[in-house]
Amino acid sequence: MRSYDTLYIGGSWTPSSDDARIEVISPHTERVIATVPDCTPADMDRAVAAARAAADRSGWPTTSVAERLALLERLAVVYEQRLPEMAEVVSAEMGSPISFSQVGQAGAALVILRAMIAVGRSFEVTEQRSGMLNPTVTIRREPVGVVGAIVPWNVPQIVTMAKLAPALVAGCTVVLKCAPESPLDAFLLFEMLDEVGFPPGVVNLVPGGREVGAHLVRHPDVDKIAFTGSTAAGRAIAAVCGETLKRCSLELGGKSAAVVLDDADMSSLPVGLKFASMINSGQACTNQTRIFASRKRYAEVVEAVVTMLNTMKVGDPSDPATEIGPMVSERQQQRVEKYIALGQEEGAKLAFGGTGRPPGLSTGWYVRPTVFADATNEMRISQEEIFGPVLSVIPYADEEEAIALANASEYGLAASVWTSDTAHGAEVAARLRSGTVGINNYSAEFLAPFGGYKCSGIGREFGREGLEEYVELKTVFPSPPELSASPFR
Ligand code: NAD
Repeated sequence: MRSYDTLYIGGSWTPSSDDARIEVISPHTERVIATVPDCTPADMDRAVAAARAAADRSGWPTTSVAERLALLERLAVVYEQRLPEMAEVVSAEMGSPISFSQVGQAGAALVILRAMIAVGRSFEVTEQRSGMLNPTVTIRREPVGVVGAIVPWNVPQIVTMAKLAPALVAGCTVVLKCAPESPLDAFLLFEMLDEVGFPPGVVNLVPGGREVGAHLVRHPDVDKIAFTGSTAAGRAIAAVCGETLKRCSLELGGKSAAVVLDDADMSSLPVGLKFASMINSGQACTNQTRIFASRKRYAEVVEAVVTMLNTMKVGDPSDPATEIGPMVSERQQQRVEKYIALGQEEGAKLAFGGTGRPPGLSTGWYVRPTVFADATNEMRISQEEIFGPVLSVIPYADEEEAIALANASEYGLAASVWTSDTAHGAEVAARLRSGTVGINNYSAEFLAPFGGYKCSGIGREFGREGLEEYVELKTVFPSPPELSASPFR
């Protein structure tokens, strides 16, 4: 893997103000694979100043949408050419199985970019509307200004593109603070942005830890924070944004529910739950880790979930056959292990897996994929986000109880309903307090809004709604035909 010595600020690669380095460690070999600068608040100040200057004094915010889309179309072409490289980089730095990195990480980021280009084609900066007090008013959709984008390590390209693409369509400028565990994909993306040739200061990259992120959030010259990460960090960021009245959108944690109704097809459940509950080695915000099964069919559901995990290959993320890779870091591995031990202390029964390394893997931050049976929804393993391949199967008495239990969570990001009666599945979906719900599957759709109810976030990404998050609305009253035309004048 390539190391980097410079940051991307104001349209060029520039040294950091300090010699400190971030070591990127392979979760599979536990060896350092590359280093990048560990930025300082002074670097962040420079990046924000460049983004501010581009927002205030360059023509970028007032370029036509068509010009901005042309640059993004060029980015899509370059991205597609380097997609295999991007997938390898993401797998190497954070351990995602390569089959998922190709489709679900780099591949999905490209689809997000193309979807936002499509949305941008119908983006109208000005709209004329008939008024009650004015014959017409003009509504302008202006860029919100300087955007501080802060992203996590688990799906770094997806969440970066989900912010960068709409921000650029809207005419904002961006400072990206990538996660210290996974900075290499951001550097590769910025090589592409540099090749495309965005005007100086429109896109800026500052890798670093949470202190540098906090400096970005507090910075008076930043107009909006677009954050994806944990609910704990989201709360801290929202508090600062509240104090400074900065716009913010937050994509946070999840502890999502898969509700298996009595008439579900058990034979298709193992395949369906692979995507719904286990993508990215369990390190995905949408994973449905609380699986609700009726007492009548409880044993069958546990068996289906165990069958699913039993058939998933655990190991080297670069192996195309691997479906579950290592955890991103030693800290994450230990966190998951602690939850597996906690589940047993809380009285849940191990139906599969447990603590300790998976057989045959002596290095790497691996955990054993685990299923808990006889779990209750009140247990900590059912309420707290574990962020690893650990599932709880929770029994319910009837459908009303299943819905109540699924909703009894501080989170509300994703859910699914499994049933042979799809019309009834839609009725159940309508009662789940969750930003996305799948029926007999869990999918993704980058032209539709994605985001969380409750503590899973504020705001939406993707689609028209995702673009609106980067827009300030301005209403312009027309010059009156005569001063007495309005009772308010
Ligand atoms: P994290 O909250 O620890 O860190 C995320 C990013 O925020 C990192 O870049 C980190 O350096 C930075 N950061 C942390 N505290 C900060 C602060 N106070 N001020 C400014 N920046 C700060 O999360 P993580 O462990 O990197 O990622 C996993 C979490 O992300 C999980 O909770 C997962 O559910 C969530 N996530 C949510 C979505 C979604 O779309 N809802 C998508 C992916 C991941």
